[in-house]
Amino acid sequence: MDPSSWPDEPNRSKIGSFYSLLLTQERHEINRFPLQDYPTWARRVVHAERKRYKDKGTDKPTKADRKMVLDFGEGISSQLSQPNDNQQASVDSNQQPSVKEKKKKKKKKKKEKGPGQGEYDAEYLHTHVADEAAYPIVYSKNCRQSHERTMKSWGHFICKTEECEENEWKSAIIACHLIFSRSNISYKVTLHAQKCRQCERYAEPIVDPEAYARQVVHVLDLWMHLREREEPTGSGVHTRGPHDIARCHGCEVGQCPYSAGELGARPSRQFL
Ligand SMILES: [Zn+2]
Ligand SMILES: [Zn+2]
Repeated sequence: MDPSSWPDEPNRSKIGSFYSLLLTQERHEINRFPLQDYPTWARRVVHAERKRYKDKGTDKPTKADRKMVLDFGEGISSQLSQPNDNQQASVDSNQQPSVKEKKKKKKKKKKEKGPGQGEYDAEYLHTHVADEAAYPIVYSKNCRQSHERTMKSWGHFICKTEECEENEWKSAIIACHLIFSRSNISYKVTLHAQKCRQCERYAEPIVDPEAYARQVVHVLDLWMHLREREEPTGSGVHTRGPHDIARCHGCEVGQCPYSAGELGARPSRQFL
């Protein structure tokens, strides 16, 4: 399991052999994989397999399960539950999105194609959040917002353009935008990309999954009324070094806690 030799672009046979290898691992090992080093497709496969195991409780996937996991890994399907899994089905498969939402989805899909996109959906990190939360919570791409806020997470970026040859940088302020729906206890997170200093193209954020899950659940706990809003203490919210506003997609679209004044000296209304 050496991720450095894996291709960045999904390829069906590579995904298939990765999945077969994954199934030979012990369950507790699967939960401890260093996902931050994996390409997106591999992280998606791990997420899909963890979800399948959680839902079905069987070690061996059926043929249909396998297809579902591989399709999800390859990014050709976002479906992670079969129609007969009604008990554990995700909110998405129960709800018919409105025409307006469908249109929006179509538009977004177009925007998301190819490298260099500014926003990434965080569904592949959901199993970490579900493990961390003390209550059942579902991830919904069509989440109807009743609460929203921005959050910072930490992690790194690797620019994959040819000219940059994996230029890498760390960030303590990866902008994340959370929305939450109280009506069906679902949420959605958008991770914002940062531009590479060398080629000025966006790179995908790779957050630390465990830290990310703790941060998301901390916010969800407030919205679930499981804790009180905290008073700003000034500690733990300052970050070392400046934040590159001009290269942060979150700052550009107004979904970064840094430019919203939620970090640093100024206390904010949304402070947690
Ligand atoms: Zn670059
Ligand atoms: Zn920012």
